[in-house]
Amino acid sequence: MRMKPPASVRIGDEDVQEDRFSRFRLIPWWDQKKLQAARVLVIGAGALGNEILKNLALLGFEQIVVVDLDRIEESNLSRTILFSREDVGAFKADAAWRSLKRISPEARVRPLVANVVQSCGLGLFAWSDVIIAGLDNREARLWINRCAWKMNRPWIDGAIEGINGVARVFVAGSTPCYECTLGETDWKLLEQRMSCNLLLREADTEGKVATTPTISSVIAGIEVQEAVKLLHGMPTLSGSGFVFEGLHHTSYKVEYTANPDCMSHFTFSEIVELPQKSSELTLEDLRRRGGEDSGTDDAVVEFSRDIVHELECPQCGAREEQFVPVGSIRYEKGRCPRDGRMRVVKTIHSYSGRESFGARTLDRLGLPQYDVFNVRVNEIEKAYLIGGDKIAVLGAELLS
Ligand SMILES: [Zn+2]
Ligand SMILES: [Zn+2]
Repeated sequence: MRMKPPASVRIGDEDVQEDRFSRFRLIPWWDQKKLQAARVLVIGAGALGNEILKNLALLGFEQIVVVDLDRIEESNLSRTILFSREDVGAFKADAAWRSLKRISPEARVRPLVANVVQSCGLGLFAWSDVIIAGLDNREARLWINRCAWKMNRPWIDGAIEGINGVARVFVAGSTPCYECTLGETDWKLLEQRMSCNLLLREADTEGKVATTPTISSVIAGIEVQEAVKLLHGMPTLSGSGFVFEGLHHTSYKVEYTANPDCMSHFTFSEIVELPQKSSELTLEDLRRRGGEDSGTDDAVVEFSRDIVHELECPQCGAREEQFVPVGSIRYEKGRCPRDGRMRVVKTIHSYSGRESFGARTLDRLGLPQYDVFNVRVNEIEKAYLIGGDKIAVLGAELLS
């Protein structure tokens, strides 16, 4: 679609190009090109995600990946400007993509129907300049925080409940981070969730938090505004949060304290992008490559996340090979088909050259495409990004 050539109008003493973004340019520090060039990873396309995406499209962001696993339900429609009644039953990421195309035809948006913890490779973080989250659980936030730190990328969090909310900015390499903010209660809830997550239980009450379109609009507005400031090198909420208290307007900025023992404070010092696809490299190929690069054959390949290797029955001893992400097997599938006993979940997170699965190609491990493998030799480590998967994950339009 061709747009009309921009007209020139006189504002004050200056000739100003009158186009879609001309009012933004009146802000002295604004640089529309920075927003056009920015790559944004949006995680969650629910109440917050809809407002985040809407703002990005209106502001003229042109490169967006949107990640969400869920389908649209009727009850979502009170808080989701990008979805309409006909979209009920469709994936949120896909419906959001269709709407964004209408708001901003020049935007290149890649929808990914995926669970960020189980099935998004670290390459997505490497691709992005900033990550903006609209999530409703601590587990996904903690995961994003650790991935953002590993790949040295800033991320912006939002949380809403009732008519209150908080927006926070975490810049990798500078503390405090999200994990630093977690207290004892947070950890208790996280551990509960993670322990039952080895197998997936059906009765999950998540996503039933009371929210309104007004609060998601306020918090998502601040999240995206912080992203704009971050991209312009302006001061942001880095390491702190803006709390919006809707009932009595006692809104304030909260400063967090860094935890020197925080597990999130790790950034890959070197990332090598390999041209191969994950279907073209075995685990042993990758281990050898890492070893060659460091002049040894004593290398260990560490995965981006734990995977379920096998289920073992404590009664009859039968083992069943899996190679799927942790949390992807339904609880009932955990039972032994012979005697009905609940089987033990065996997980793996690395390969040292001695295990039986070295001949598996990287796409047959239960790990996502476009992921990063850390090859460790003693204390020295080098990360390898499986770059050949890029086109399959990000799509041709986004990479054009
Ligand atoms: Zn931390
Ligand atoms: Zn058995």
